[in-house]
Amino acid sequence: MASAPDTSEIHDIAIIGGGINGCGIARDAAGRGWSVFLCEAGDLGGATSAASTKLIHGGLRYLEYYEFRLVREALMEREVLWGIAPHIIWPLRFVLPHHKGLRPAWMLRLGLFIYDHLGGRKKLPPTRTLRLRRDPAGQPLDVRFVRGYEYSDCWVEDSRLVVLNARDAADRGAEIAPRTRCVSGAREDGLWTLTLTDERGETRKVRARALVNAAGPWVAEVLQQVLRANSPAAVRAVQGSHIVVRRLYEGEHCYIFQNEDGRIFFVIPYERDFTLIGTTDRDYHGDPAAVRASAEEIAYLCDSASAYFAKPITPADVVWAYSGVRPLYDDGASKAQAATRDYVLEMDAPSDGPALLSVFGGKITTYRRLAESVLDRLAPHLPAARGAAKGWTGQAALPGGDFPPEGYAAEVASLRRDYPFLAARLAARLVRAYGTRARALLGAAARMEDLGRGFGADLTEAELRYLHDHEFARTADDVVWHRSKLGLHLSHEEIAAIERFMQSLATADAHG
Ligand SMILES: Cc1cc2nc3c(=O)[nH]c(=O)nc-3n(C[C@H](O)[C@H](O)[C@H](O)COP(=O)(O)OP(=O)(O)OC[C@H]3O[C@@H](n4cnc5c(N)ncnc54)[C@H](O)[C@@H]3O)c2cc1C
Repeated sequence: MASAPDTSEIHDIAIIGGGINGCGIARDAAGRGWSVFLCEAGDLGGATSAASTKLIHGGLRYLEYYEFRLVREALMEREVLWGIAPHIIWPLRFVLPHHKGLRPAWMLRLGLFIYDHLGGRKKLPPTRTLRLRRDPAGQPLDVRFVRGYEYSDCWVEDSRLVVLNARDAADRGAEIAPRTRCVSGAREDGLWTLTLTDERGETRKVRARALVNAAGPWVAEVLQQVLRANSPAAVRAVQGSHIVVRRLYEGEHCYIFQNEDGRIFFVIPYERDFTLIGTTDRDYHGDPAAVRASAEEIAYLCDSASAYFAKPITPADVVWAYSGVRPLYDDGASKAQAATRDYVLEMDAPSDGPALLSVFGGKITTYRRLAESVLDRLAPHLPAARGAAKGWTGQAALPGGDFPPEGYAAEVASLRRDYPFLAARLAARLVRAYGTRARALLGAAARMEDLGRGFGADLTEAELRYLHDHEFARTADDVVWHRSKLGLHLSHEEIAAIERFMQSLATADAHG
């Protein structure tokens, strides 16, 4: 292993962890003028932040746990985030059927009334009552469901949100180091010195005035084993799994169903040809990196969905499953589903040493507000900010998101006017993924052939180069499971060819 060179540059803030929380903090801090360094052991957004249900939501069920602060903040974030990233975030309608024997209708109506009014909803449509025997949303359901309610929340391409925050942070001067693990950190001469190892086994050191531990499910491990800190805070690891089946019904609406065990789960149209069903909620004790959907969870989700749909769903219908570990703050709740979903920031700022702030819990939905709280806590320990004022991240579009929230169709039409050779489906996908930056990817192309070799599912050489050059992608996995979900549409051979191409780009980097 090479020896660790000492770097002379001192960053204001170093961040361990390139999930949504780490990248959100990096973006906000860079925009405010602080110098930022972020290291991520694997791919950006490759852990929990790629395994969510992908909802920007207030969390209807958290009302039952009186989490009004969290629900209000999350509800307010829906339209803010839709506004700064309308390519990867968009409104959805959720159908909640009334199930005789479970929560009574008055309770559902009261919950939805609070949900509609707590969070400053302006553009999203309000709740309405449905007669399911007459409404198209009732068609795929079992006939016993007669009445239902329909309300609004938003969808987010979770791992893309992470990478766009990282991209924007880098464009504003942050150093983003994916595939770089922090192996140790110590307070030395009034600064944090971190020792980092990258994927080639090369080691280097970085110094910073303050440190953020945003390692998600590894937050306690980083505190104890990497930073050797003495912290009483504990993380409660709660596993959640999802299954993907072939599309179950027509229409763009989603369902939120109640289970007899008191849990709720979602059924959501997914990646054009599929339906996403999830999630589960159970305590997890293993290595977060090794988490997988178990046969028992898959059976539970199939049985739960079959209780609502006219046509049963079986494990044989499952084409893909994924699983993640919620890094919740351990508040001593008895059931995993009752553990708080709110975030907790733990500050360790000795009078004679640099500050350390650790992030526990949080939702993708609240990442931007979490970042603001983190910087509020760290600001007294940093030089005066020289950039934008607090709140700027709710105004400035994320890369490619600089078009009106309701302007997606117009953006697709405009792209097809400028690039008439693009098929409707490809143009729609490119705008969903890259927004206005689809033009940077397409460049001067005048024909499909100008985009280079095709790799299947409309994925071209030009797109792979763009993902490599602008979105930190290095492997086929980064491309087909984190920057996109094209893995659902590609064969093993096609994915292997993408891997070879990504390797050739990496080799070219190394030589030049
Ligand atoms: C099943 C499930 C469903 C969910 N659904 C939703 C939802 O619909 N909406 C919502 O808002 N939220 C949802 N959440 C919550 C949300 O996904 C998480 O709160 C969020 O992704 C956590 O992000 P993070 O950045 O804290 O952690 P992560 O995304 O896990 O990032 C932490 C990163 O730290 C890195 N790391 C660890 N150790 C080191 C080290 N030593 N050096 C460098 N890097 C390191 C890891 O590699 C990892 O990438 C869901 C979560 C789960 C599990």
